[in-house]
Amino acid sequence: MTRQVDVLVVGAGPAGLVAASLLAATGARVEVLEREQQAGGVPRHCAHRGFGNRPRALTGPAYARLLADAAVRAGADVRTGVTALDWAGPRTLATVGPQGAQALAARAVVLATGARERPRAARLVPGTRPAGVYTTGELQQAVHLYGQHIGTRVVIVGAEDVSYAAADTVRTAGADVVALVTDRPRAQTAPARVVEARLRHRTPLLTCTTVTELLGHGRVSGVRVRHRDGRTATLPCDTVVFTGDFVPDHELARRGALTLDPGTRGPTVDGALRTSRPGVFAAGSLLHAVESADTAAREGAHAATAVRDWLADAEWPGGVPVIAQTPLSRIVPNRVTPGCGLPYLLRTAVPLSRPVLQVSQDGRRLHRERPGPRTVPPHRPLTLGAGWAHRVDPKGGPVRVTLA
Ligand SMILES: Cc1cc2nc3c(=O)[nH]c(=O)nc-3n(C[C@H](O)[C@H](O)[C@H](O)COP(=O)(O)OP(=O)(O)OC[C@H]3O[C@@H](n4cnc5c(N)ncnc54)[C@H](O)[C@@H]3O)c2cc1C
Repeated sequence: MTRQVDVLVVGAGPAGLVAASLLAATGARVEVLEREQQAGGVPRHCAHRGFGNRPRALTGPAYARLLADAAVRAGADVRTGVTALDWAGPRTLATVGPQGAQALAARAVVLATGARERPRAARLVPGTRPAGVYTTGELQQAVHLYGQHIGTRVVIVGAEDVSYAAADTVRTAGADVVALVTDRPRAQTAPARVVEARLRHRTPLLTCTTVTELLGHGRVSGVRVRHRDGRTATLPCDTVVFTGDFVPDHELARRGALTLDPGTRGPTVDGALRTSRPGVFAAGSLLHAVESADTAAREGAHAATAVRDWLADAEWPGGVPVIAQTPLSRIVPNRVTPGCGLPYLLRTAVPLSRPVLQVSQDGRRLHRERPGPRTVPPHRPLTLGAGWAHRVDPKGGPVRVTLA
């Protein structure tokens, strides 16, 4: 038998929980499905401070609890241990959980399934297949949720914010960080963090260096690395953590044949976070793996407003595609419809100095803007206002965002 609710939210991370809180507060029947045993998403297993827009940032677990409690207090039914497996209709999901298999139909669905790091296999790293190989998410769950032993000497692949968070987790677990290894010329994080790791924790950072092979039978015994100048070395270790390289957790979106954006690999959305299917919305890291938790939460709130309008019989406009051109690597939202004010989030593949963004359609310039920071490093967010949307010809070609 198919159960009916007003709004079904898939994923109880910051995006899904905030959308659920706001919608439940309006009196809608809202059900949140979360495959883990606890609500909260990624922050649940991030022990460090840095979550929430407050003078004193919260730890991940405290932030997760705050959002989960707010959703329940607002009247949302947050069901943990329940996985949305597939679609059984345009807005009906096949689920499995403690009560077995169930079909749930809704007037609106919000996909907030987050993102995941690409594991070793997806990165095509050669070598043996020993135990002791993690992603950051797996490492953090092992240490912070289950108190498992993760080894003693750890090589961390990557040198972004998340890699340094992984290094902190390794030290919390009482293990040593052998080195952070990145094929880039420098770390992709705040300089202070790099200096602290080097001086306070004596953690070497190997730049321009690629992991070419994993070694060991049964358990990892080392990683072979190659420097850009051709030198090779073996780093003895018993654990390797592959960090960063996030991709949206888009399986459900793909199974539902929602249109995906080639730049983000998440579902395409307009400024109201409407996907290509009427009544199905998306928010958070599923759209842009990965920005801050507050960004995900803000999008959850934005999606809630759009869902309310949809439940009150709003239309579902198609919109015009928005494309970020090289060296800009992605843009969200990636469709433009009139009247939707969510700012556009971009990333660049190369460092930019005093960038100016230009928006055009069919050779007609719609807008020019100098975004906030003077210098923008790769893999950092870049924001473009949405005030030009009314100038887009709904019957014209794609809107292009370029560097002027
Ligand atoms: C290691 C690390 C450290 C970070 N540190 C910070 C920080 O200090 N500050 C900060 O602001 N941000 C930080 N972030 C980013 C922040 O965690 C994300 O922006 C935020 O969690 C995104 O929220 P979300 O709701 O989109 O997705 P998520 O938090 O990923 O939640 C998605 C949820 O959906 C569930 N789900 C997925 N598929 C299904 C399905 N089919 N059925 C049921 N449930 C499903 C998942 O289990 C998960 O709980 C960090 C991220 C990482 C990985």
